[in-house]
Amino acid sequence: MINIEVLNLGPMDNCTYLVTKGTDALLIDPAWDMNFIIHTLETKKLTLHGVLFTHGHFDHVKYAQTLLEHYKAPAYLEAHDVALAGLPVGFLHTYCGDQQFKLGPFDIKILTTPGHTAGCVCIQIEDALFTGDTLFPGACGRVDLPSSDPRAMLASLRRIAALPEDIRIFAGHSYGGRCSSTVADEKLHNPFMRNALRWENR
Ligand SMILES: [Zn+2]
Repeated sequence: MINIEVLNLGPMDNCTYLVTKGTDALLIDPAWDMNFIIHTLETKKLTLHGVLFTHGHFDHVKYAQTLLEHYKAPAYLEAHDVALAGLPVGFLHTYCGDQQFKLGPFDIKILTTPGHTAGCVCIQIEDALFTGDTLFPGACGRVDLPSSDPRAMLASLRRIAALPEDIRIFAGHSYGGRCSSTVADEKLHNPFMRNALRWENR
């Protein structure tokens, strides 16, 4: 069973997630305050097995290079967002499309969910889904940015809605102080997801 700790860092309410199982760790979207993140890993005596990015926007990757250099940990980013992220290619394991792989004791499932950017993914580990800027509690990410695609967002929201209802959702920002939810709650209360599901039938 994984443990999930949310680190609220940076000026834009970003959520970096520290996922652990015993002393094994993964980081999702580490972008800000690398001193704090490295200090946290060291204090807890954690072994970092890898870094996963939900997409390439600067507020999800900005200072990650420091961390990657420090730990020489593999970092995963979908190919469509590599140019956007501007991280040195040497650190990156780029991939295209859905993936399944293991990092340390963690079974990782990558679901491609384009719409906010072309390379947006959701990262599933056990019953937790890290949705980045694709899905927030009660909202979805902006679709008016370079490489955004509103129609792809609708399909991505339907894709998340089709997952088991007890999947826990952890979003890329804590807008309004909230960053977590469940698939069931979003299907009931998220107007964007509900709209996407309505359009499916037309
Ligand atoms: Zn974004």
